Amino acid sequence: MSSECLFCSIVDGSIPADVVSETEHTVAFRDINPQADVHVLVVPRVHEADIASLAAAAPEVAVALIAETRRIAETEAGGQYRLVFNTGEAAGQTVFHAHGHVLGGQLHAALPS
Ligand code: AMP
Ligand code: ZN
Repeated sequence: MSSECLFCSIVDGSIPADVVSETEHTVAFRDINPQADVHVLVVPRVHEADIASLAAAAPEVAVALIAETRRIAETEAGGQYRLVFNTGEAAGQTVFHAHGHVLGGQLHAALPS
């Protein structure tokens, strides 16, 4: 938990979000600036800067996060989707709390940055 972190604040409820699913390990909510017909972010409850750091620190949580992306896509997008993990500033990561972009339907632009 980092008090400076936007996604920790969404996880703990102190900043509102349009939540689509919650599990033991994850919270998923709609991206505020959708880049596809369906654009949901799936984040771990624990704070890690990116998906690879999460996989190293808590592999069971990384696996749970990936499994949850399919459940969300089945509900939201017929089960077929892109899963994007921007990792590092140069790759377009802007929020340094691990998150997967679940992108379904038509993309509105290039992949999210
Ligand atoms: P990334 O650029 O991969 O770090 O993705 C961060 C994503 O968080 C972007 O797609 C933003 O649109 C999204 N975002 C930023 N603030 C919020 C918020 N308060 N609620 C939902 N999504 C957000
Ligand atoms: Zn965080």
